[in-house]
Amino acid sequence: MIIILLGPPGAGKGTQAQRLEREHGLKQLSTGDMLRAAAKSGTDVGLRAKEVMDRGELVSDDIVVQIIAEALTREECVNGYILDGFPRTVAQAGALDAMLEQRGVKLDAVVEIVVPEDVLVERISGRFACAKCGATYHDTFHRPKTDGVCDVCGAHEFVRRDDDRPDAVRQRLKVYKAQTEPLLPYYRERGILIRIDGDRPMDAVAAEIDRALGIENLEPPECDGDDGTGTAG
Ligand code: AMP
Repeated sequence: MIIILLGPPGAGKGTQAQRLEREHGLKQLSTGDMLRAAAKSGTDVGLRAKEVMDRGELVSDDIVVQIIAEALTREECVNGYILDGFPRTVAQAGALDAMLEQRGVKLDAVVEIVVPEDVLVERISGRFACAKCGATYHDTFHRPKTDGVCDVCGAHEFVRRDDDRPDAVRQRLKVYKAQTEPLLPYYRERGILIRIDGDRPMDAVAAEIDRALGIENLEPPECDGDDGTGTAG
């Protein structure tokens, strides 16, 4: 199964993609995570991408298309995958169509997670993640059980994304409206767009996504481990 998760920053794409990977064995392919990893490892492309990301703007189509093209060849994608944060422009959507056609596979569904803007800003401004395993938390809605200790791996260090600052968040929301929302009619016309109300507790959103995709009773396949590097997006 091949799925796109679409939605503005803070809609919960990363959280749902991580869950779909954990529960259903669909590999999460997050271009944001891949770009952050490239920036962290200090590659030329990564460092240039980081400047653009920190301003809340989009990295060039060429770079992200190349990153995804490489990811699609990985063994871990054989059970299907979730594109989290890709495509974000009409040009990227066209490039994806060409890649899928070349591989002889088709897109099953595009899930749009809809959340009001004031809720998005509140969610993004409080979020942080474990520096070691990537588990995600929120200052108000989801603090670690013991302050300063990751529930999942016990680490003591946490990180906040540089592009979660208010000015970058405003820019990211603007960019979403201008460059990514035009993808909605593109997929609606193909009859594969599913709208989900994302302004509800995570489990309710999860259940509705699974129902809409018809995978609510699907067992996870026996498969490879999780690299646990996700950050909410
Ligand atoms: P995300 O983690 O999905 O919120 O992405 C964080 C940032 O990475 C975005 O604000 C962009 O600067 C960059 N980015 C992620 N995915 C893409 C993409 N498909 N196209 C262009 N830029 C991207």
